[in-house]
Amino acid sequence: MKIILLGPPGAGKGTLANAMKEKYRLTHIAMGDILREEMKSGSPLGKEVKSFVESGGLVPDHIVTKIVENKVTRGNLAQQGFLLDGFPRTGTQAKDLDAILAKSGQAIDHAVYLEASLPVIIQRLTGRRVCRACGALYHLTNMPPKKSGVCDSCGGELYQRADDNEETIKTRMDVYLKNTVSIVDFYRSQGKLQKLNADSGLAELMKQFAKILDGHSKSNTN
Ligand code: ADP
Repeated sequence: MKIILLGPPGAGKGTLANAMKEKYRLTHIAMGDILREEMKSGSPLGKEVKSFVESGGLVPDHIVTKIVENKVTRGNLAQQGFLLDGFPRTGTQAKDLDAILAKSGQAIDHAVYLEASLPVIIQRLTGRRVCRACGALYHLTNMPPKKSGVCDSCGGELYQRADDNEETIKTRMDVYLKNTVSIVDFYRSQGKLQKLNADSGLAELMKQFAKILDGHSKSNTN
């Protein structure tokens, strides 16, 4: 199964993907995580993308598309299936992704759009904390760690992403709104768009998402 997760920053794409990937044996490809790793390592790519990520703007299409192409083709993921989170973010990226998959006769199965309202988004992003060592996600009130500032799974230090401040969140929302219509229309016209209400808590969202994934497996075995 090849699934795309769409939706505004803070809708819970990463949280949902982390919660579902094992059961459905899907590789989670999170573009934001890949870019932050590159920045942390100080690689030439990391240096190139730093200013875009920190300002909340978009990294140029050709850079992110190349990253996805490498991941998908090298890991043979076009055959094995993936949950793609944070890509595509523009109409061009959506078209390029189709072209990459088409080379091996593959296509996206579902584009799942997580809809969330602005107050929910702001509350989620400003309270989000991330483990510096393993990348696990927490929230100060919605999903707090057992011990403040410390990762439950690996004991790493929790930090607040530099772009999770109110001003950069506003830029990210503007960028998102400007690009989202073309992506949503693209997948709707292919009959692949599924919308989920992401204002609800994680358990409810997982249930709704599982229906899509289970429905897919059923229709493929019948
Ligand atoms: P969010 O919480 O906003 O969904 P991500 O962690 O997915 O954040 O992305 C963080 C930043 O990385 C974005 O604001 C953007 O600068 C960059 N980025 C991530 N994915 C893409 C993409 N597909 N195209 C361009 N830039 C991207």
